[in-house]
Amino acid sequence: MRVTTFTAPPLKNNAYLVVDDSSLDAAVIDPGLAGQKILDSLKLSGASVKFILNTHGHADHTADDAKVKAATGAKVGIHEVDAFWFDRNAKSGRPYLQGPALPVKGDLLLKEGSEIKLGNTVLVTMHTPGHTLGSAVFYVASEGVLFSGDTVMAGSSGRTDLQDGSPAKMGFSLKRLYRDLPADTRVLPGHGPETTLRRESWIADLSYPLIR
Ligand SMILES: [Zn+2]
Ligand SMILES: [Zn+2]
Repeated sequence: MRVTTFTAPPLKNNAYLVVDDSSLDAAVIDPGLAGQKILDSLKLSGASVKFILNTHGHADHTADDAKVKAATGAKVGIHEVDAFWFDRNAKSGRPYLQGPALPVKGDLLLKEGSEIKLGNTVLVTMHTPGHTLGSAVFYVASEGVLFSGDTVMAGSSGRTDLQDGSPAKMGFSLKRLYRDLPADTRVLPGHGPETTLRRESWIADLSYPLIR
């Protein structure tokens, strides 16, 4: 599996191009406003984008879903609970975008455990509410890689003070990831530098009650 990171506006969002080595099937995780950069890079790589996966519905992560879908025919996936954001973002992208985002539909409404297959590379959806109700992360066990969106970041978590945010749910989600995944898991977040779960040992000290 090859991962290329594109950091783009509006909030230094990290978009990830994930390519399965044998099939060259690819996924774009959280295009943000990096759509054109990603499409340009495809011309060189020969990869074929089958899926656009969103860690959650905020417009800074989903802004170029429609653009990448139009160019590649990829299917758009998002946790079912956050799919309503597409309609909302098409009316107004604020506070993340100046105007509305191009409308797009969720083709794959993901749930806990939903698998996305790129050749031999399997991304497993884990539902990790806290930043939004339908926030999700994508785990590739064979590679030890976690695409963590706005759930785990280097030294912090995503915000929990926005609409549908919940510190208690975030605490639950963080502790679950920290407990259930290997410590050396490579964490690729929605913003900021990559990290590992081992480095984010502050998660072990969280004392939020374990409730959903
Ligand atoms: Zn967000
Ligand atoms: Zn974000």
